Order: sequence, then structure tokens, then C-alpha cells
Amino acid sequence: MLLMHLREAVCEANLELNRRGVVLYTWGNVSGIDRERGLVVIKPSGVGYETMRPEHMVVVDLDNTIIEGDYRPSSDTRTHTVLYRAFPAVGGIAHTHSAHAVAWAQARRPLPCLGTTHADHCAGEVPCTEPLSREQVRRDYEAETGHAIVHALEGLDPLAVPMALVAGHGPFAWGKTPADAVRHAVILEEMARIATLTAVVSGGAPPPLEDHVLSYHYERKHGKNAWYGQDKSK
Ligand SMILES: [Zn+2]
Repeated sequence: MLLMHLREAVCEANLELNRRGVVLYTWGNVSGIDRERGLVVIKPSGVGYETMRPEHMVVVDLDNTIIEGDYRPSSDTRTHTVLYRAFPAVGGIAHTHSAHAVAWAQARRPLPCLGTTHADHCAGEVPCTEPLSREQVRRDYEAETGHAIVHALEGLDPLAVPMALVAGHGPFAWGKTPADAVRHAVILEEMARIATLTAVVSGGAPPPLEDHVLSYHYERKHGKNAWYGQDKSK
């Protein structure tokens, strides 16, 4: 069986989405890519988490042709492949319908950076896409969803802003690996929950975090000279 190691990582990442409580039923999907072979491993469509195994994962190429798999791939596969083509540094993608992130996506509002919890994981606001036109939905809804995300990320480093909201739909998150993508999807839901509470507590639009604090926090964790956590050279 092809790409057994990646199949295991993608299956585990899908189960982790479920364990972390960011998906109900089968409302989510995770994929991973083998860049050398140009092959994507993705969750099968509609298989429950209780019975999900690495061998159920589906292997597709970047043109969405099924290379190996007994099941149909996730219906969002064409969104994932557009993102892999546009973001060469990305190795894993996760999509959920987690409630707080969906609320901001449905309000069609980018998620502002209001505090350091957000700044530790995302270097600025989480962009929200433009709504899709009738023509885009007719042409190729899933691929156009990917293009809308790519457009919303224009000028941004997808590893520094590893998440986006799709207007009227919900969140996509990504990272260097499928596990990173899931971690970002889980963190995005918490960021959205906190932002929602902040808007309630402040009784309106809360002030954004000062830019100098935002960049300090982000750089501390992710910058060239990151010093957060333990020194791994020891
Ligand atoms: Zn969806």
C-alpha cells in the first residue's frame, strides 16, 4: 500500500480533530502531502471516526485523480489540492465546522487579533474570503473555495497566517504536517471563542492588540531567534 507512513499520520490527525471536539459526525477532513511524489493522502468521504483506519485513506494526485483507495475521497479534496499547489511550504490541511470559527465565517468577518493568545499562533488577523459568485459555484465550487482562500492570503506568509475563514462556510487551517494543521484548527476555534467572548464583554468592537505586542509575541515563538520553550540544542 502506498505512503503507509503518511496514511497513518493523516488518519491519526483526523482522529485528533474528533478527540479535540472540533468536529461532529464526519464534518471535517484532514489531508497530508508527499511533496517528492506530488501525492496527497486525504480522509475518505463519510467514514465514521470509530472505524477509521489508515488503509481507508485515499491517495490522489494534485489533479485530483485517485491513485489508490477503496473509498471516495473527501468532497473537499479539490479545495485541498488548490491550497497545496499555491502554498508549497504547506504539508497538511485541516477543515472543520467548529462553532465559533464558523460564527465569524458566517458573519463574514476576519478574526481580529485582540490578544496574545491569538498573536502566539497567527501573525495578524485571520482573513475571511470573499463570497463565491453563482458562476464560481457552478464552475467548480470546491476548487473555487480554494482559490478564494489563496486570494484572501495574498501578500501573507501561509506559515505565519496558517488559517482562514471561508465566508458563509467555515475555517481551513494548515501547517507543515497534518498534525500541525489540526493543532492550528483547534487553536483557531479557541481564538474565535475568546474573540467572541471579548466582543460580548466589551459590548461592541474591542480594540485590536497593539502591533508592537503582536509582533513581539509572534516572533518570540516563531521568529528567526525564537526563544519560547526549551533550548532543544541541550
Ligand atoms: Zn465544510
